[in-house]
Amino acid sequence: MTDLATRAPVTPTLDVAAIRADFPILSRRIHGRPLVYLDNAATSQTPSRVIAAFDAYYGGYNANIHRGLHTLADEATAAFEGTREVARGFLNAKESREIIFTRGTTEAINLVANSWGRANLKPGDEVLVSRLEHHSNIVPWQMLATEIGFTLKVIPVDERGVLDLDAYRELFSERTRLVAVNHVSNAFGTVNPVKAMAAIAHARGARILVDGAQAAPHQRVDVQDLDADFYAFSGHKVYGPTGVGVLYGKAELLESMPPWQGGGEMIATVSFETATTFAEIPHKFEAGTPAIAEVIALGEALKWVNGIGVDAIGDWEGRLLAHATERVLRIDGLRILGTAPDKAGVLSFVVDGAHSQDIGLLIDQLGVAIRTGHHCAQPLLAHFGVDATCRASFAAYNTLEEVDVFAEALERVIGMVR
Ligand code: PMP
Repeated sequence: MTDLATRAPVTPTLDVAAIRADFPILSRRIHGRPLVYLDNAATSQTPSRVIAAFDAYYGGYNANIHRGLHTLADEATAAFEGTREVARGFLNAKESREIIFTRGTTEAINLVANSWGRANLKPGDEVLVSRLEHHSNIVPWQMLATEIGFTLKVIPVDERGVLDLDAYRELFSERTRLVAVNHVSNAFGTVNPVKAMAAIAHARGARILVDGAQAAPHQRVDVQDLDADFYAFSGHKVYGPTGVGVLYGKAELLESMPPWQGGGEMIATVSFETATTFAEIPHKFEAGTPAIAEVIALGEALKWVNGIGVDAIGDWEGRLLAHATERVLRIDGLRILGTAPDKAGVLSFVVDGAHSQDIGLLIDQLGVAIRTGHHCAQPLLAHFGVDATCRASFAAYNTLEEVDVFAEALERVIGMVR
């Protein structure tokens, strides 16, 4: 995607009206006006088939999975494991046992830190993270670094919010064990060249974990093509429910890793006399009763995305972003943060003489939901000399007309606070 500011909006590549009809929440009115929901990078809305999956489960086959011999347990297990296969296809993983269900991206990263990290990182080792990371791909590594004594090194960004690949190459040493980087930045929308970064990491003998929370909803992800060692995403950003996410890991890596949480489901045998033995992957990493309904509903969300086509969704969001960029740049004193040539549907900006929080609160009064704050990326915002931005982020169901409503509301609000 090039020259975002000047690209003219064109005919939708999606049947957006039909898509909108799938989302009951989009007919809500907020303060008497139609909801314009532009906080999709935080949480996307859910289509009817995802909502219906909860009714079907609790009303029809609610039961604990894997151990039961009765019909309901069989049905619940089949539906739960069905999502594993859908998620495998969604990421193009080789095998469904490479898919682990977690509470979300955050828990997926904590799992890798606590299992792979504790087993593989030694004092004096190095882990590379980027300046663009969400706190969930920084703090678990900081916590572990304090405990183990390895060093966290930061891949720098340029003034557009693009990672400096030359600097990245130079950060490697013989002690570099892991690169932890997002595929798409939630704060700026930068799409990172994770395939190239993986090749560089592997050439230097390091592993790579990709935080795909912001990529999975917007672009095709092929973990084999990327050659990612680990890849994580969250259900609630990909039209699915909260409380569920996916960690992909290469089978041989997952097999070599110790369990993280202990409990039911993750064992083979438990004894006080001999050593407890653990289940095979993926169950080794799924201790306790999982979020069964949420996992099943996540499967419906991924099928919904597949039905529309994630490439078409990403393309449409690119058009919305281009139109929004062009509209807001007309506003005097507005500065966009994150101007990478390759950007996902995220528009982050600050306005001279207007606090982001005031803008967020006032624009809500006009029915428009955007996010304001540090977006869990304080090191990135600090680097750009701000502690908050306003962020509008797009999804398949947003329209060009909504972008106009947003831009007009923004102009009005800025006029009020300046
Ligand atoms: N990484 C990125 C890039 C994100 O945008 C988010 C959510 N804002 C997360 C990680 C954390 O996801 P979750 O809260 O679903 O665990």
